[in-house]
Amino acid sequence: MSSGTVENTEPKESDEKTEEPESALETARRQLEHAAAHLDVDSGVIERLKHPTKVHRVAVPLERDDGEVEVFTGYRAQHDDVRGPYKGGLRFHPHVSEEECVGLSMWMTWKCAVMDLPFGGGKGGVVVDPKSLSSDEKEKLTRRFAEELRPFIGPKKDIPAPDMGTDAQTMAWFMDAYSMQEGETIPGVVTGKPPVVGGSEGRDEAPGRSVAIIAREAADYYDYDLEETTVAVQGFGSVGANAARLLDDWGATVVAVSDVNGAIYDPDGLDTRSVPSHEEEPEAVMTHDAPQKLSNEKILELDVDVLVPAAVGNVITADNAADVEADIVVEGANGPTTFAADSILQERGVQVVPDILANAGGVTVSYFEWLQDINRRQWSLERVNDELESHMLSAWNDVRAEVQARDVSWRDAAYIVALSRIAEAKSTRGLWP
Ligand code: GLU
Repeated sequence: MSSGTVENTEPKESDEKTEEPESALETARRQLEHAAAHLDVDSGVIERLKHPTKVHRVAVPLERDDGEVEVFTGYRAQHDDVRGPYKGGLRFHPHVSEEECVGLSMWMTWKCAVMDLPFGGGKGGVVVDPKSLSSDEKEKLTRRFAEELRPFIGPKKDIPAPDMGTDAQTMAWFMDAYSMQEGETIPGVVTGKPPVVGGSEGRDEAPGRSVAIIAREAADYYDYDLEETTVAVQGFGSVGANAARLLDDWGATVVAVSDVNGAIYDPDGLDTRSVPSHEEEPEAVMTHDAPQKLSNEKILELDVDVLVPAAVGNVITADNAADVEADIVVEGANGPTTFAADSILQERGVQVVPDILANAGGVTVSYFEWLQDINRRQWSLERVNDELESHMLSAWNDVRAEVQARDVSWRDAAYIVALSRIAEAKSTRGLWP
């Protein structure tokens, strides 16, 4: 059972907030403009990249368990496919919106380019609270959503994957619905499936593993010995828990982890394998014994070497960026730092390694999964992890080279790597007609 003191678990009053909530699209557009200023890229290319190629909006009717029919709204934003099919997750979350999907699809374009994967960027979702759905309802909603999106997706067109509120089982239902209608089994239509139906070994763990690899490299770059590095991780789901556990295995001291209910803190280091992850037991972090309990916001202000925000977007804002005491922030979630907060952190000398590099292990193993599906040949976990390690190191080295050559932030450097590749592809293909 829980023990120790509870500090500051009250949420901040909303009138204390000064920064207007920023949409993922606003953040993504501002980041694009900021990075483009460092590059000699045709302004027409930047202009084209500010707009998604297509956004599909669909109605998804569902007969609830009580017989009532409810209609949910679903989206699929397809940002850019100059380097290959659109790629990116599907969210089931009450805050899904067209704007959010477009912003997140832009990040997927950069993420795939920074990793040098032959994909563009897409993102979609359904405006629904998945906690309000029974398993049967979730399955029916997923199947109907797959059917509504069927004309726009496919292994050579647009390949969805799991994201917030969806998982391997959701992808299995999605693949099954698509395949039934197409009249053949097409595992490559989505990634993140269970291995028994064409999923890849190591896919679930991959985003957290890449966060851990990048945190390890960043610590090394700034001359921290991993054995003496302290880490705090906000969010203990598939990204946060896997990142925390690997860093713990590799010798770092993970002093704090959190979930929606709050954080546990032990200055001597937590045994991260004994703290239940969201998948093992949802929202159970606070039930774990620890010398101190903190609020979910306070974990962002701990004086640690490395902070990993791996929960939701927009958690580091202009309101709390001045209170971040970590030396290095490694973004596990998509878009945890607002544009305004990013500048404050940069002025204060806090190094922020961006999401499009740090959590890109997910889409990288999705690429491996897609290759395995197309070739009908399964890779071993060892091969997946070895190839992921080498892809992450190669992307890290590309981004590090830009940081050193241009004296820019890690985010700008990652954008520069991505934008250069996209712009070169766009100008080589040309604008038609
Ligand atoms: N949803 C994950 C992300 O944001 C993975 C996307 C994918 O594998 O296509 O990177």
